[in-house]
Amino acid sequence: MLQTKIYFVEDEEKIRRSVRDFLTLKGYSVETEGNGKTAYEYLMEHVEEYDLLILDIMLPFFDGKAILKGIREISDIPVIMLTAKTGMGDQLASFDMGADDYLTKPFMLAVLEAHIQAVLRRSQKEKGSLELGKLRIDEKEQRVYVSDRPVELTRREFDVLLYLIRHSREVLSRNQILDAVWGYDFEGGIRSVDTVIKRLRAQLTHECNYIHTVYGAGYRFQVPDEDLQGSS
Ligand code: CA
Repeated sequence: MLQTKIYFVEDEEKIRRSVRDFLTLKGYSVETEGNGKTAYEYLMEHVEEYDLLILDIMLPFFDGKAILKGIREISDIPVIMLTAKTGMGDQLASFDMGADDYLTKPFMLAVLEAHIQAVLRRSQKEKGSLELGKLRIDEKEQRVYVSDRPVELTRREFDVLLYLIRHSREVLSRNQILDAVWGYDFEGGIRSVDTVIKRLRAQLTHECNYIHTVYGAGYRFQVPDEDLQGSS
């Protein structure tokens, strides 16, 4: 299963450890750093390897705001800031600087996880990406990934896949697919649909065996329950 990778910057070792242990237990992959400057220099090279950052604002010498400012020049990765109880100004400032969310210390670990999930969901929606089991579709960029591996599709294949997904669990006849994707004035036959589906299946591999043939009727796109539960 795909693991969400989190990078957590916090100078207090106790918090660092408890957050890391808790999130690891919950199935996240977590790396931590106690030194703001080290974190900054590391992230400027490696930020794209992560799905989410959690930054404590109060760090000695090089604080969370400085890290966020640098990161925002190169990345739109979701960021949650941790602020002190009295730091209302910090909270507002962190939004100004492009944080996606903040959490006031002290916080409950379960609440942190709820914030992480909400921020990740929101960022996926903004990106216009759809996750269906092991399949991920970036509609805006028109890219398709199988278990995070990019897949090369033609325009036509992409359109057919998107049409099937939008009508997930429905049985679609070849004519329906043809009309929706090729258009009513298309002269070619319904065999064109079969050809595209065949290539799509090959591209999606056995890992995303989600396009089913319904004998005598057409095709149906459906993600098996075990894959749906597995996607985070
Ligand atoms: Ca701190």
